[in-house]
Order: sequence, then structure tokens, then C-alpha cells
Amino acid sequence: MQRLRKVLVVGGGTAGWLTACYLAKAVNAANPASVQVHLVESDRIGLIGFGESTFPSIRGTLSAIGLDERRFLVETCATYKQGIRFRHWVRPPGTPGKEHFFHPFSVPSQRPGGPELLPYWLLGAAPAGLGFADAVTMQSLVVDRSRAPKRTRDPDYQGPMNHAYQFDAGRFAMLLAEHGQQVLGIQRHVATVERAVLDDHGGIAKLVTTELGELQADLYVDCTGMRAGLIGEALQSPYRSCGDVLFTDRAVAMQAPYPRPDAPIPSFTLCTAQESGWIWDIGLQKRRGVGYVYSSRHADATHAEETFRRYLGSAADGQEVTHIRFDNGYRPEAWRGNCVAVGLSGGFMEPLESTGIALVELAAYLLTHLLPGDRDDMGRAARHFNAMMSARYERIVDFIKMHYCLSQRRDSAFWIDNADPTGIPQSLQDKLAQWRHRPPHRLDFVGDLEMFLVSSWQYMLYGMEFETDLEPLRSAYPRGVEASREFAMIRQAATQALDDLPDHRALVEHLCDEYRRRPHAAAARAAIA
Ligand code: FAD
Repeated sequence: MQRLRKVLVVGGGTAGWLTACYLAKAVNAANPASVQVHLVESDRIGLIGFGESTFPSIRGTLSAIGLDERRFLVETCATYKQGIRFRHWVRPPGTPGKEHFFHPFSVPSQRPGGPELLPYWLLGAAPAGLGFADAVTMQSLVVDRSRAPKRTRDPDYQGPMNHAYQFDAGRFAMLLAEHGQQVLGIQRHVATVERAVLDDHGGIAKLVTTELGELQADLYVDCTGMRAGLIGEALQSPYRSCGDVLFTDRAVAMQAPYPRPDAPIPSFTLCTAQESGWIWDIGLQKRRGVGYVYSSRHADATHAEETFRRYLGSAADGQEVTHIRFDNGYRPEAWRGNCVAVGLSGGFMEPLESTGIALVELAAYLLTHLLPGDRDDMGRAARHFNAMMSARYERIVDFIKMHYCLSQRRDSAFWIDNADPTGIPQSLQDKLAQWRHRPPHRLDFVGDLEMFLVSSWQYMLYGMEFETDLEPLRSAYPRGVEASREFAMIRQAATQALDDLPDHRALVEHLCDEYRRRPHAAAARAAIA
């Protein structure tokens, strides 16, 4: 038996530090001397710098690695995210009908013993004109009124409304680096990996670096971003592109100022559909992070930048943009031999539903769970890891494609192409066909393989004005009066919640001030700087 004693994470972006922190915390808790976690990062190769909008799972991850929430808010300029507002997705601007809808993080209200509300919403038991998400949760109203998802008295990472965060990606990696070294005992090396030397079994024997000579470990975690220096360049694990289904492959992005320092901060990510893609708009504490994700088959870079600057108006004056290419897809064998790819080296699906960091978190949990005590167990762990991760990627493809193919927009080739059935996976076509006659149900999904809860599918479907004809089954739903009462109660509870929940900007500033007033905060900030 060859015990696994040393893990080397290669890359110090969000994926590298998050994985190293999660792993170190778990092995320290189990047996501090058992496995050493090292991380090597280059000071010559930068981070991608994107990845500002997250999934609610981030709360569990940050809490698990022992990061104080107030410190996290201060150091990363973070704000709260309660979901995604989709604007102009159903139809183009200037067309009659609703301009936007909300995909909230909170699940539909469900009183124990009460009726499940979706069928009754479909049968018209909710007030006329009220969208599904607006009828079954109070979260849309909370964000419309710029309220936060929690109160000052709520414990770290908890609150009445389900939520995630939006933060500065570069600062996030720096904070994790500091926490990982000082608190979790991760050993950091600064060096550029030039190449990997392979062993006789096709695994990695050692890495050769420019500055530090050779580095060796039992398990290598490739977090080198899109370069995929180990899993791609050295081990040649193939990349499966999903570009035939998800057409976007470029982004142009910018950091934009607020019009005034006390401008309200939206507690959601705004995604506005465009002629050849969509624009993300994220409010951090002192600036916005904005980017246009588009298809190069449908728009060139110059045209995309013009569209993007037009969207931003005067906020774009004098600001530089960054252009980036990507390929939606993943490596079915992200774990090959003694190397496992996490983050962009393992795969990437366009950021419409902020799955990038959530997939990093998932990979870190899986890796920690499967970490082989014996190096000979590596193959079994790899097979399970690859099956779980591939399933998630495939399901994300379906979920994101649904956003595009349900649109009624036919105002450009991009939207027309997205509605073409030849580009819609059979698995998604099957789901949509069934949901014409019955609403989506959790039994339609295998929970552990899904990135999105059934409620997310429901919010998106009906936000996109998908039609499910339940009339032939009306007699199977006899609790209409009760359901109407529930809808009224949710509206009433929402009004009370508005009194209880503070303004979003005010809460963020209050929690940051509390942290800054702590005696040790100044020293911690000086250490990071
Ligand atoms: P990187 O940040 O690129 O880090 C790579 C690291 O590897 C760096 O430290 C670099 O120095 C190091 N490195 C590389 N080569 C070597 C070498 N040879 N030797 C030593 N070190 C090396 N995700 C979300 O969750 N939400 C979003 O809103 C979101 N938006 C996105 C928008 C766009 C346009 C893109 C492209 C991605 C977005 N993502 C988003 C994904 C997110 O950015 C990534 O999942 C996340 O940042 C992880 O990146 P990474 O750490 O894998 O790579």
C-alpha cells in the first residue's frame, strides 16, 4: 500500500485556492499529519479575473473553511445576490409584454400539508398577471425594493432569504490565499510550471518549474485555468466542446463606476438579452462588473464592443474593456491518473447561471470525499469523479439551452438559430415535450446529478412564458380555494418581510463597519495589502 501523503494544487486562481482550502480544512479535521496540501502559482501568469457572481452553495463552502462573513464582505467588496433578473429574454425591447422576470434562489413556499402551488398557478388560482416566481415566493418583492436577504442579527451565512454573493474575483483569490496559509496550513510556492515529467504508467512523476526546480506530489490538482497545463497539455485528456448547442464563445467585459457613491446596489445579477448574446451586470460595493457574452458566429468583436458600450452609456466613457474567448465544454476524463482538473482546466459553461465557481465547489467536495488513502485506489476514485462531474455538465447544458430555445425572439440570426430543433439536445426536447401536459416535478430529475433544483427549472420555464396545458387534468386539482388563500398569504408575508429586512446597501455597509471596528481587523488588512 502506498499512502497518499502530498497533494499539489497547481494554480492560484479561485479554483486553486478554493480547492486547496476545502481540502486542507477537511484533512486537518480528520488527521492533521495525514496529508500535506501544497499550492504552486505563477507570478507571471495572471488570473482570469472573472467569476464574480455565485451560487448559494458558496455560503456552505465559505462557512466550511471557517471564513468570517464580515471579513469576506470587506476584503472582497462583496454584495448579496438573491437570484437573477432576466430582461428582454422572452421578446425584444419595444415589444408589448413583460420586460423582465426573476429567477429567485428561494424555493416556492410550501406549507406542510398545503397544496403544491405550481399546478394551481397554472390553473389560474393566483392573482391575474402575477408571474410564477412572484406568486410563490416573496423574494421578487424583496429585491424589487432593494432589500437585503438577511438582517444584522442573523448568524454568518444565514438569513431568511436564500442567497449567494457577488464579489471581486481577484480579491477573493487573495483572501483565500491568506486564509489558506495562515489558518489552514497550506504551503504556498511561487513558481511557473514549465512542464510535467510523466511516469511509466502515464501519470505525473514530477513538475519542472522555472524558479524552484522540481516539485513532486502523490496527487496533482490542475487549476491552471484555460491553459490546462497538466490535464490537457501533459496528459492529453480530450475536451468535449458543447459549442454546437451553446453558441456563445466570446466575452467583452469592463469594470464600470456607479453614477454616485450611494447609488442603490441591486441584490441580484441582471442579465439582459442582446442581439447576439446577453450582458451581465453585477453590483459590487464600489463598482459594477459588466460583460457581454456573445457568439462570434453572430457578431464580430467590434460590433460586440459597440453594443456593449451602448448598453453602458456614459458609464463606459474612458473605461477599458477586456476581450476573452472560451469554448463551452468539459473534459469527460477530468481525473486521469494522478491528476485531477478543477475549474477552467476541467471545463466551462458560459456564465449565464453562474455555474463556474459552483462547479469548483462541487469538484472540491467530491475530491475531498473520494481522496484515496492508497495511491492504488486512484483509478476507482477517478471513475466516480468523472461520472459525477460529466453528468453535471451535461445537465447544465440542457438548463442553459432552455433559456435560449424558449425565447420568442426572432429578431436576429442568433435567436433564430437557438430555436432550431437540431441544436436542442434530445434530453431537453423530451423534457419540454412532457411539460406541455404536466408541470416539471422533482421525480423528473436525479437530485445528486443536478446542478439546479426543480424549482429553478420551474422559475425559468414559466418566466420564459412556457405553456403547460393542465385543463384536461383540472379535476385532479381540487384545492383551488385553499391555493388562492396561500397565494394571498405569501403576498401578505412579503409585505411584513419588507419591514423586517434592511436596505441592501445599508446592510453591507453596516456589516463592513462592524468588521472594521474590530481591533484585529486593521492588522489583518495590513497583512493582505
Ligand atoms: P484562473 O483564474 O485563470 O487561474 C489560473 C491560475 O493558474 C493562476 O493563478 C495562474 O497563475 C496559474 N497558472 C497557470 N499556468 C501556470 C503554470 N504554468 N505554472 C504555475 N501557475 C500557473 N464563474 C462564476 O461562478 N460566476 C461568474 O459570474 C463567472 N463569470 C465568468 C465570465 C467569463 C467571461 C468567464 C470566462 C468565466 C466566468 N466564470 C464565472 C468562471 C470563473 O471565472 C472560473 O470558474 C473561476 O475564476 C476559476 O478560474 P480558475 O481558477 O480555474 O482559473
